Amino acid sequence: MAQPINQTSTSMRELDRRHLWHPYSKHSAIHSEPFPIMTRGRGVHLYDADDRAYIDGISSWWCCNLGHSRPDLVTALQRQSDQLQHSILGNMSHPAAVHLAARLAGIFPTAGRRVHFASDGASAVEAACKIALQYRHAIGEPHRHKFLSLKNGYHGDTLAMVSLGFIDAFHAPFEHMIPRAQQAPAPCPDARHLGMQPHSCTAECLAAFRETFAAHADELAAVVLEPLCQGAAGMRLYHRDALAEIARLCVEHDVLLIADEIATGYGRTGRMFAFEHAGIDPDIVCLGKGLTGGYLPMSATVVTDRIYAAFTDKPEDHTFYHGHTFAGNPIAAATAIAVLDAYRDEDIVERAARAGETLRRQLEAFVDEPGVADVRCLGMIGAVELKDAPSPRLPETCMARGLIVRPLGNVVYLMLPLVAENKIIVEATDILLDGVRACAELGAG
Ligand SMILES: *Cc1c(COP(=O)(O)O)cnc(C)c1O
Repeated sequence: MAQPINQTSTSMRELDRRHLWHPYSKHSAIHSEPFPIMTRGRGVHLYDADDRAYIDGISSWWCCNLGHSRPDLVTALQRQSDQLQHSILGNMSHPAAVHLAARLAGIFPTAGRRVHFASDGASAVEAACKIALQYRHAIGEPHRHKFLSLKNGYHGDTLAMVSLGFIDAFHAPFEHMIPRAQQAPAPCPDARHLGMQPHSCTAECLAAFRETFAAHADELAAVVLEPLCQGAAGMRLYHRDALAEIARLCVEHDVLLIADEIATGYGRTGRMFAFEHAGIDPDIVCLGKGLTGGYLPMSATVVTDRIYAAFTDKPEDHTFYHGHTFAGNPIAAATAIAVLDAYRDEDIVERAARAGETLRRQLEAFVDEPGVADVRCLGMIGAVELKDAPSPRLPETCMARGLIVRPLGNVVYLMLPLVAENKIIVEATDILLDGVRACAELGAG
């Protein structure tokens, strides 16, 4: 039951152009292109003000894993907002946060987890980093205050997160503000690249990482990484053996491992968490994006009891003086619980793994395209790397056929909702293939 909106999309765009500052959007694009005004969502589709349907090929920035307008999530959200819209977790509690923390602890491979809530992904990784630093302080190792991240990693856009994931093209203006974390080259690409010979990760693959790690191990508080898939860098995949080896090095040198599962968690790779592919058990895991199914902003930093125990206030005060106004917000927490119910009742992770097989088969069609340099797939992440930057018209071309895509550099990818049926996966990959071809012809002409 779409309510028709009063203003036409044209006048809406005019008002938008006067007052709204769009994230990650060029002025020229906003001011010249008739971008869609989305007014409702249902399943894997978004609908614009003119009621045109678009497949949400990016799950609305990778968070709407269950699609749009789920009655169960809406009900959970409404019920909780009827009861209690907000109450803090400072020296008090509420049932939604208690139950959510317990449920989250329960989906980890080993028992003994604590959950610290925040409102967005960057804040969850920031909290993880501050926890790692204060932990070192508390256990009498304040000299271990550095972080090692992977080149091309992305952990959010706040200043501290930019220091972990510095990208020249985006972050040059902040160069002088921030101490940059150590960065090691990411492990070599994974055999999940279609058309590549299967290989198991070799010693050479990690040589560069090992070198940087060894040079700084004594002063490292933690290694921070995106497990198996560097998303914002263009869905760069690396092998699970490499992740297992990094985790082993961390244990050996008593360096904490912070797994940023904000994009890869919640079934995106065909397992609940990407780190499970490597059989590891990180000290700190950051969750965001899929946590509330894309309903409300919420994130979580999940730590082991061993770390939590160091924050005692006796005999010395090691309390973690850190928090956000909306940390553990009841409405968000109640929705996040309903999300976990849906995952359990509908085997969402299994379904994502199966849907990922369809996606992989469909992506094979791209392998022999002349303009294509690489094709890769992990669970419900599919990426096609082009030899040259795609035409700026590629997103429009796909949009005109009803598919939302946002290329990252030379990479066009699909991050469809995990519940996408085979028919939708076929439709989306067909539109993308036609788009890639059409834009290659445009480029040649
Ligand atoms: C999106 C993302 C973040 C940042 O999350 P926000 O909610 O946008 O702050 C951090 N890490 C990874 C891996 C992400 O994909």
